[in-house]
Amino acid sequence: MKLTADERADPSVCARIVDQIFHEANVGSHARRKCLRFLADSIAYAAAHWPDRWSVTLYSDYIRFNVGWVEAIVLGPKVLAVLVIGSDIPKGVRLRGAYARARGARGAAVPFHRANALVPRIQHTHREAMRAAATWRTGSGTRNAHSAGVITYLWRTLGLRTKAPGIESKLAGAPSLHIVQGGVENGDKRWLERATGRDLVAKNWVVPKSARVGDSVVIYIRGHGCFATGKISSPPTPRTDRPNRYGAAIDSVRLIEPAVSLEVLRRRMPEFQWATYPRSITTPSKPIAKKLLTIIEVRRKQKGADLEQEELKTSSLEELRAAALAKAVPAANAHQRKVIQRKREWAIKAYVLGRADGCCEYCREDAPFRTEKGQPYLECHHILRLADCGPDSPYNVIGVCPNCHRRAHFAYGRRKIKDQMKNRVRGIEARRTRGRK
Ligand SMILES: [Zn+2]
Repeated sequence: MKLTADERADPSVCARIVDQIFHEANVGSHARRKCLRFLADSIAYAAAHWPDRWSVTLYSDYIRFNVGWVEAIVLGPKVLAVLVIGSDIPKGVRLRGAYARARGARGAAVPFHRANALVPRIQHTHREAMRAAATWRTGSGTRNAHSAGVITYLWRTLGLRTKAPGIESKLAGAPSLHIVQGGVENGDKRWLERATGRDLVAKNWVVPKSARVGDSVVIYIRGHGCFATGKISSPPTPRTDRPNRYGAAIDSVRLIEPAVSLEVLRRRMPEFQWATYPRSITTPSKPIAKKLLTIIEVRRKQKGADLEQEELKTSSLEELRAAALAKAVPAANAHQRKVIQRKREWAIKAYVLGRADGCCEYCREDAPFRTEKGQPYLECHHILRLADCGPDSPYNVIGVCPNCHRRAHFAYGRRKIKDQMKNRVRGIEARRTRGRK
């Protein structure tokens, strides 16, 4: 039976109907909580990923949660009906019909009395199925029947944080951004590189206690900078291995290439104090979060061409390399091209000297002396001369001592030296591309 709009907005009506559903099915409080939590998590997940493609509706004897045109979860009267993908589901779950508007997805029935064991095991396939269903925009009919009372009831009962429950734009529009940390030696960095774009899930990343499902994270790695982004996909729980720390699942990992160094953050956001002393996890204020996300977005689009020459003087080697590899924008006019070209030449030189790190990249001896500024003195040599159409790129430039530089130009057998230099740089750059140092 359909309820009135007032009833659907009323959390106490929802509470009564939920009690009735579980009472009739004779379900224990543990399984009951598990089912409600599952529903709340799925709603939060959908709200975060597809804010305009879900709705939840309260009926007189059941709750229906839609993604796109499809029922993603139906709670009651006797069963928890869940949308899943394919046949990869645990024993005890009964499959039902397929849906035209959720490719590969089918309904499945989880008996209440087995919810404790089965619900955690279908979460992944359920999310995949929601993804398939979210291809379609939700019909206005279901949106209009959206029942704020369900959200209010769920969030209150489960103690979830939300200020204005029931309005999905608020729920979805207010995910926070957290900065969390990753390490190199502990394998975090390598895992992130593997996970990017592959939908892998980190099970227990250290996050702020206040994090919610659907919140974004920026993962900072010392020595690299803001390295990747992701989304929180499970509520934080206390970590047993670290006192006073909370862990949550992180998915939707995407690398930021090149990572945004702290120097760039400090320069562009002097008001962002964390960047001065980046030891902890933090939840920056909304304006800071917005600015940070914009920097990351531009970085992804321009792949390092966003860096100003002034910034390059203090930025990381990864950023220098990206700027050195950056291509001129095709739409740029003659003046812009000239500016870009000048910046690139500068970046290539600075990058190659940074890459050489005080040792000649040919004979591998230390630089012969230091400059007034205390920098080891090396020179940049174009392996193929620019005049011979040698590409002006980090692959064609080697950082060498003055001796080797003269040798490359005037020595007997310099054709062989040229080949050796070419191979040397190719090897160095290949290792960098693979992310090893
Ligand atoms: Zn040398």
